[in-house]
Amino acid sequence: MTAFVFNEINFDNHEQVVFASEAKSGLKAIIAVHNTNLGPAMGGCRMWNYATEAEAVRDVLRLSRGMTYKNAVAGLPIGGGKSVIIGNPKTDKTPALFEALGEALERLGGRYITAEDVGTSPADMANVAGKTKYVAGLGDRGDPSPFTALGCFVGAQAAVKHKLGRDSLEGLVVALQGLGHVGYDYARRLKEAGAKLIVSDIDEGALKRAKEELGAEIVGTDAIYDVQADIYAPCALGATVNPDTLKRLKAKIIAGAANNQLSTPDMGIACREQGILYAPDFVINAGGIIKVCYEYMNTPEDGMDAHVRRIADTLTEVFQRADADNLPTSVVADQVAEARFRK
Ligand code: NAD
Repeated sequence: MTAFVFNEINFDNHEQVVFASEAKSGLKAIIAVHNTNLGPAMGGCRMWNYATEAEAVRDVLRLSRGMTYKNAVAGLPIGGGKSVIIGNPKTDKTPALFEALGEALERLGGRYITAEDVGTSPADMANVAGKTKYVAGLGDRGDPSPFTALGCFVGAQAAVKHKLGRDSLEGLVVALQGLGHVGYDYARRLKEAGAKLIVSDIDEGALKRAKEELGAEIVGTDAIYDVQADIYAPCALGATVNPDTLKRLKAKIIAGAANNQLSTPDMGIACREQGILYAPDFVINAGGIIKVCYEYMNTPEDGMDAHVRRIADTLTEVFQRADADNLPTSVVADQVAEARFRK
């Protein structure tokens, strides 16, 4: 027998994996619940035209496991899970599809709470919500991106303090990639703190605005890796910390919002060897999930700002332990998460 699921590296003792289908709507979804030791599993629903079902299984396991680590390190009372719908988000979406997903979530009885993700939107989640209450981030109480940006900003401050021994960002140069929902707000905060911005984007409008409002210098999408900067802030794409870019980056700190910044896990080791302090992505970009979780759980929001700001404390702990144990920050961040969620 060919082993496939249980020996997948990201299977990693998943508590439950559900294959949900419904004939009328054509739903084919996989719901993965990695770990609920800290609370019900929370993570978005991705819709993607996967080439094979095996690819969809691998993706959902990887993403679900990642959510356990992210939610644990953010100090939230939730576990990790994720779901994927197999289909083309441009052509295959119907309200019935998302209602059928809602029914599947309802059958799980709250062990998994979904939210929007790549390929799904607040409108899709509203259809899910027609059938279940186990859906978060419906957008009715605002965009989580400013909280992600706040987490990145306090994370950058913590990294600067640790690496450069400075309490202020005044005069530092930040190479920021991607002026979207998170990147622009992060850039605004950096500018207010006295940093100088060098930015790249594929959206001319965003670049124009950053130049006019924030005095940012604009460079090409590839040139961003070569500029003289103190901080590299990836806020667009994954895997931009790779063997090619690491040869080119001048920055001594990587602190940005993008998911999956390291092209492979050994890039964490490479950063350390090169004297670059890498703020692990799933630690620094957790502001948004903190906001979504507060909203879903109806937690009074007066403590939310302070909760997001604690990302700086977690990062400082990670940086200090990485130095003490001579380990990549990415590995130490995993250890911090595991200490919180493993029983
Ligand atoms: P967004 O789509 O609003 O912004 C992405 C920006 O990157 C856009 O302005 C886009 O034009 C630009 N871009 C695309 N390709 C580029 C390229 N090659 N070079 C430079 N810029 C490019 O997305 P967002 O919500 O701001 O999220 C940014 C990143 O942070 C994503 O990786 C996302 O997964 C991650 N993230 C976001 C949140 C959140 O709260 N929104 C939370 C956690 C992680």
